[in-house]
Amino acid sequence: MEAIKGIAASPGIAIGKAVVLGESQERIAYRTVEEDQVPAELARVERALEASRADVRRLRTRMASRAGEDAARIFDFHLGLLNDQLLVGPILGDITRERVVAEYAVAEGFRKFADMLRAQPADTIAEKASDVVDLQRRVLGHLGEQVATRVTNTRGPVVVVAHQLTPSQTAELHKARVGGFVTDAGGLTGHTSILARALGMPAVVGCGRATQNIEEGDTVILDGDGGVVIVRPDDGLLERYQFLAREAEARTRALRETVAEESVTRDGMAIQLLGNIEFPEEITQVLANGGAGIGLYRTEFLYLTSEVPPTEEDQLESYRRAIELCAGRPLTIRTLDLGADKYTQEHLDEAERNPFLGLRSIRFCLANPEIFKTQLRALLRASALGPIKIMLPLVSHVMEIRETRMMLNDLCEEFDEQGVPFDRNIALGIMVETPAAALMARAFANEARFFSIGTNDLIQYTLAVDRGNERVAGLYNAANPAVLTLIKSVIRTARHVGIDSSICGEIAGQPLFTPLLVGMGVRTLSMSPGQIPAVKRVVRSLEIDHCESLARRVGSFDSDRQVLSCLRDELRRIDPEALARSEGS
Ligand code: PEP
Ligand code: MG
Repeated sequence: MEAIKGIAASPGIAIGKAVVLGESQERIAYRTVEEDQVPAELARVERALEASRADVRRLRTRMASRAGEDAARIFDFHLGLLNDQLLVGPILGDITRERVVAEYAVAEGFRKFADMLRAQPADTIAEKASDVVDLQRRVLGHLGEQVATRVTNTRGPVVVVAHQLTPSQTAELHKARVGGFVTDAGGLTGHTSILARALGMPAVVGCGRATQNIEEGDTVILDGDGGVVIVRPDDGLLERYQFLAREAEARTRALRETVAEESVTRDGMAIQLLGNIEFPEEITQVLANGGAGIGLYRTEFLYLTSEVPPTEEDQLESYRRAIELCAGRPLTIRTLDLGADKYTQEHLDEAERNPFLGLRSIRFCLANPEIFKTQLRALLRASALGPIKIMLPLVSHVMEIRETRMMLNDLCEEFDEQGVPFDRNIALGIMVETPAAALMARAFANEARFFSIGTNDLIQYTLAVDRGNERVAGLYNAANPAVLTLIKSVIRTARHVGIDSSICGEIAGQPLFTPLLVGMGVRTLSMSPGQIPAVKRVVRSLEIDHCESLARRVGSFDSDRQVLSCLRDELRRIDPEALARSEGS
C-alpha cells in the first residue's frame, strides 16, 4: 500500500483499476468510400501529411533555437518518416485498392509500421515506434479525427493515471465513463482541473511521480476531496473508502434537492448563481443543478479541442446552441483567452519564455485582429438570436477595451450596410483578473458595462504565484488579505458607479467563501455546474447583516491563516456538513 499526495483538483472518490496512459493505440472504424471518391481521399491524405510536415518543421526550428541543432535533429527523423515511401506507399495503396477512408488507411499504415519497428532486435530501432505513434496522432488530427484514447473501450470503473492531460483528452475520458484521473503535473486552476470539476469527475493533480509509482492494473483509491491517491490499498482502507463513496453519493442526491429552491438568503436577498462552461452542452448540467444562466462561457476550448481553428460559422453554431439551451437566461460569452497554452505556443517559431506574462488573452486577440474579428463577427451575429453579453479576458489597460469597442463599431457598420441583424445594445464587459484592472476599477468602469472578477488569475498575478505550478501551490491562496482587499474594492467601485459585478473564479463555487463574498456585497456568483447546489444551500442559511459583520472582521486580518480559520468557524456554525465536505472528511 502506498499513499501519494497531490492537489485535490476535483471532488469525489473513485475506486478502480489503474490505466496508465502512455502511448495511444488508436483504432479507427473500417469504412469504405465509393470508387469516384478515391481521388478525394488520396488528396486528403496528401494534405494531412503536408500539414504534419509543416508542424514538424516548426517544432524543429523552435527546438533548434532552444536546445541546439543536435536536439533538433530528432525532428529530421520525423520529417524523414513523413516522406518515407515504405510508410506512405501502403497507405495510398490501401485507399486505391481497397477504397478505405483516409483515416483508416492512415491509422493502419502507421500501426503496421510501428509494429514492424517494434519487432526489430535492436532496442534503438524498436524505441522509434513511439515516434511513429506520435506522428500518427498528428496526421489523424489533420484529418479531423478526434483521436480517442484507449480507455474509450474500457469496461468497469477505472482510474486514469497520466503525466499530464490536455483539456480535450479530459473530455474524451468523460465520454468513456472513467471514474477519475491522477496526473503528475498540473494545478488547481489549470484548465484540465476546471474541466474535471465541470464534468463532475474526481481528480488529483500535481502528484509528481504517480506514473512511476502506479502500475497498470493496480487497485487505486482516488480521493478528490483530500487530494490523496492510495495505491494497492489493504482491505480495511478499501472498505472505508467504499463506505465514504456511498455516503458522498447520498449527500449529492440530497443536495440536488435544492435545485428547485430559490437562491435567497434567510432575510430575502437574492443571490444569483450562474454556471461556468467550456462547451454549450454543459448548460444542461448547469440548469439541472439549479443554475440561473451562464456567467462565463470559455470560448477558447473551441480552439483547444481541434487542430484546425474554428471558422466564423463554427463559432456561430456553438453560440447559437448555447443561446438555445439558455432560452433567454443570462449568457456571458468570454472572448478567446488563448496565449498561455499549448495551442498558441506551438504556433510560434519560438515559444514564449513566460507565457502567463506574455501575449495572452485580449493582448493576443488585439495582436491577431483577423482571429479576433472572426470571433466578434460570430458574436455579433449570435446577438440577434438571443440575449448575450461579451466579456474580455485579462484586461490591464483601458486602451484594450477602447480598441475592442472600435473594432465592434466597425463591424456594426459593416453589418448595417449588409443588412445583417445584430443587437445594437450588446453589453461589453471585462474580467477583472489583473491587479491593474482591480486598482483602476473606477477608470475601467467608464469603459465597461460590467465586471466579472476572475480570482484564478487575480490570485496568480497579485501574489506572483503560478496557478499551475504544484511546487508553489501552497502559496496560491484566495484567502490572502491582498487578494480579498482587491476583490472588496472592485465590488464597492462597481456598486458605487452602478454597474453589474460578479465573481467567476473558483472561489465563487467554494462554500467556505460564500458568507464572506456575500458580506462584501457580491450578488452574482458563477461556478462549475456541480458546485451550484452546495453554494445554494449555504446561501439559504445566510443573513446579510451577519455576513457584513463577518466581512468587516475578515478585513482586519493580516494573514490567510486567520482568514481561513474565521471562515471555517463561520461555515461550521451555519452548515457543518458543507465544512466537512470542503475539508474532505
Ligand atoms: C479566472 O481567471 O478566475 C477565470 C475565471 O478565468 P480562467 O480560469 O479561464 O483563467
Ligand atoms: Mg482567467
